[in-house]
Amino acid sequence: VIILGDQDGVLADYDNGFDEHWADLYPDWIQPPVSQRDVFYIEDGFPADRQPFVGPIQRTEGFFLNLKPIPGAIDGMRELLAAGHDVRICTAPLRDYEHCIKEKYQWVEKHLGLDWCARIMPTRDKTLVVGDALIDDRPDITGVIRPFWNHVVYDQSYNRTLTTSPRITWGNHMDVLTEVEDYRARNGLLIPRL
Ligand SMILES: [Mg+2]
Repeated sequence: VIILGDQDGVLADYDNGFDEHWADLYPDWIQPPVSQRDVFYIEDGFPADRQPFVGPIQRTEGFFLNLKPIPGAIDGMRELLAAGHDVRICTAPLRDYEHCIKEKYQWVEKHLGLDWCARIMPTRDKTLVVGDALIDDRPDITGVIRPFWNHVVYDQSYNRTLTTSPRITWGNHMDVLTEVEDYRARNGLLIPRL
């Protein structure tokens, strides 16, 4: 099956990267860790007077490149590919793309290898990308069409209220994707195949 894997919050540990930058820049501004928040947008967990300091962190040169992989993610992606799936990385770059786009590619090369850069599909609207499953930590993924893929939620503290979608970690990913495959087989493949 065609598996789309999101990058931030699924492959790359955006939240802990953010917490480290914040602690370096603003050691006197103690915040509850972003990595334990219960709201999706990081800004929403900050008081109004600190929210303007959030955006510039992710626009800093090196921010995306230096994110650490989420444990198990790199092996998990390779395992899915080895199992015969068509695995792609579907990521929504910042509109302030200057460092973000380039560093997302560099990150993939660094951790998965240059071959995987051909598998990156940057888009601000993931509904326009065709696939059987989209592994994504974002609870609400909307766009201009009803997507072909099944949303498989990558488990994070801020998406636990979403109970209607299959939930995955890099630990049970093969089982969950087998479920998606079975679901697709029962309901018919909507995607025209070659
Ligand atoms: Mg994400």
